[in-house]
Amino acid sequence: MSTLKRMARILITSGPTRQYLDPVRYLTNASSGRMGRALAQAALDLGHEVIVLSGPVEVDYPPGAVIELVVTTDELLAAAHRRFPNCDGLIGAAAPCDYRPVRVEEHKISKTGEPLVLHLIETPDVVATLGASKRPDQWVVGFALETEDQRFRAVVKLQKKSCDLIVVNGPAAMNSLDNQVEILDRSGAVAAAFQGAKESVAVGILSVIQERLIAPRL
Ligand code: C5P
Repeated sequence: MSTLKRMARILITSGPTRQYLDPVRYLTNASSGRMGRALAQAALDLGHEVIVLSGPVEVDYPPGAVIELVVTTDELLAAAHRRFPNCDGLIGAAAPCDYRPVRVEEHKISKTGEPLVLHLIETPDVVATLGASKRPDQWVVGFALETEDQRFRAVVKLQKKSCDLIVVNGPAAMNSLDNQVEILDRSGAVAAAFQGAKESVAVGILSVIQERLIAPRL
């Protein structure tokens, strides 16, 4: 009897992105990359190949993963587009900046004593873009950070972004060592719930991905 286990190649987006206003100032958020790092480690521990696309973070990713660093949301999307066709699945753990300034000033914006009005436009959604074009043999797992109506909003997001599963967490997850998550499937049912250090939550998330998305495609 064969004990061969087919391994998956998993693309993980992680950390924040930055959108510069001028050469020294930028918009960003408090994402640390810790959840992405923990997911990368948990996937490697299961024997999978891991590619991490990350914005600027302080954390070190596991040496066993391929790491590609990006700065802006557009760069993240371009890298994801390039990598995803050769991957089995995507875990969207990044917190990409949702807005960018319409215009990036070439020189540092000087203070004038007057209010500064910024014109921002939406950046592309990486998970939604890849979800919309995924092949039947590929899967996509998104994250949703919600402060109210968590399950309802998360399932709407899952459908809008063509995800197979969505991991719901609260704002306490941002830049924290711990996390508390529920994983919802396409019917809105709670597939599993995990709480604790991000490392152990990541092991739980990967076990659900393994059982629901990787093993059935073997
Ligand atoms: O819409 P919201 O930002 O709450 O969705 C979160 C999910 O979408 C996460 O999986 C995140 O990585 C992904 N996302 C993305 N590109 C964006 C914004 C969010 O991939 N521009």
